[in-house]
Amino acid sequence: MKRTVAVVGGGTGGGAAARLLRRFLDRSHEVILIEKEKTLYNRGSLPFLAIGARQRSGLLRDTANFRRLGIRVVDRAAAFIDVEKKIIHLEGGREVRYDFLLLAPGAELNPGLPPGAEEAGFNAHTLSGAEGIFSRLRDFQGREIAIVVASPTIKFPGSPYEYAFLIDYFLRRRGRRREIAINIYTPEPAPLSQFGERVQESLKELLLKRKILVYSRSPVLEIQEAAKKIVLEYGSFPFDMLIYCPEAVPPPIIRQSKLDGGSGWLPVDHGCQAAGREEIFGIGDAALMLSESGAPLPKMGSLAHLQSSVAAKNIANLILGKKGEKQTFNGFNGAIIAMGGASFLFRGNSLAADGNFRPLPPSKLWNLFKKVLSESWWLRDHS
Ligand SMILES: Cc1cc2nc3c(=O)[nH]c(=O)nc-3n(C[C@H](O)[C@H](O)[C@H](O)COP(=O)(O)OP(=O)(O)OC[C@H]3O[C@@H](n4cnc5c(N)ncnc54)[C@H](O)[C@@H]3O)c2cc1C
Repeated sequence: MKRTVAVVGGGTGGGAAARLLRRFLDRSHEVILIEKEKTLYNRGSLPFLAIGARQRSGLLRDTANFRRLGIRVVDRAAAFIDVEKKIIHLEGGREVRYDFLLLAPGAELNPGLPPGAEEAGFNAHTLSGAEGIFSRLRDFQGREIAIVVASPTIKFPGSPYEYAFLIDYFLRRRGRRREIAINIYTPEPAPLSQFGERVQESLKELLLKRKILVYSRSPVLEIQEAAKKIVLEYGSFPFDMLIYCPEAVPPPIIRQSKLDGGSGWLPVDHGCQAAGREEIFGIGDAALMLSESGAPLPKMGSLAHLQSSVAAKNIANLILGKKGEKQTFNGFNGAIIAMGGASFLFRGNSLAADGNFRPLPPSKLWNLFKKVLSESWWLRDHS
């Protein structure tokens, strides 16, 4: 019997999952990708764009590319899902019916936190923000670069550190680093503490070597644009250039469709299946998958990518009558932070209780891993 699988969101997780579903299911079944943007880019490339190591044109991919694979692309935003009737209502009035639904709408960005950041600084998690950083860095005349982490929940917790290392690298290569301070203000108890003490201690050492100062346990209350001040509970600090990593907030469609169980995010089990809904799956930043200690998994493209194959396999198995063959995500994952010259890699099991991640010494080899795993795979999935 013909089945229709709808995927909402064609980013890191949804794009990969749509391709896999098309591969696992023959053409008697329909795969529909609903993506509100016509052109997509991988946010993992933004820190490189910010130091001129990537070009905008090389990052953009057209969602129409999915059509060549036999995937029906609907370039509208999904507004609301009627889960009882299995209908997705699109903005503008159309609707899409499904038998199986994979939700991968990612997280939205809250540029309003801390107050004043949007007016005074560059949003490190957008294309225009990263481009703005590069044009400012090229003829930067100031003394203080501040990187502000807006909330404990951001996309890729390594991104503020990656930005700091790459900016340090950029300035050192131009012989300008001595005159310029790079400071990070973060609410974290210590850099990347959620990945355990070993990662935290190694990262601290690397930051120290590069003279990047981290103000931990320092939620920023406000940015004063005119005074060029960062206001913390215990004092205020100057900046000449401000970069901020915005809070990641749930995409509205999850709550509007009453699928969030109160958190705003979509709770899923380790098979990426939504609680009490055999036909609904969720992956990536929008999904709320918990570790054994009950902590939500971080918002990372590597997780979205790994979950995409679990969800696609489980949906295909249900359609192909292999209900007993449910796959689960094993939790094994890693992250690479580019430092310019070399990269810092740590890996471990995201589902195990906290603190099991192990760092490896920085190496140029991890640059290659990062390029392949974070950038080339994304480009392949969207070409
Ligand atoms: C600066 C930066 C650097 C990063 N570096 C790394 C890294 O090195 N390693 C790593 O693992 N992760 C990294 N990440 C994190 C990674 O980019 C995200 O975790 C990943 O993109 C999440 O994938 P996703 O599929 O859940 O969401 P996304 O890739 O954000 O895709 C969601 C898609 O859904 C679409 N959408 C949303 N709502 C709707 C709707 N209602 N209807 C239709 N379409 C909708 C959006 O337009 C978007 O295309 C980085 C993030 C940033 C910001």
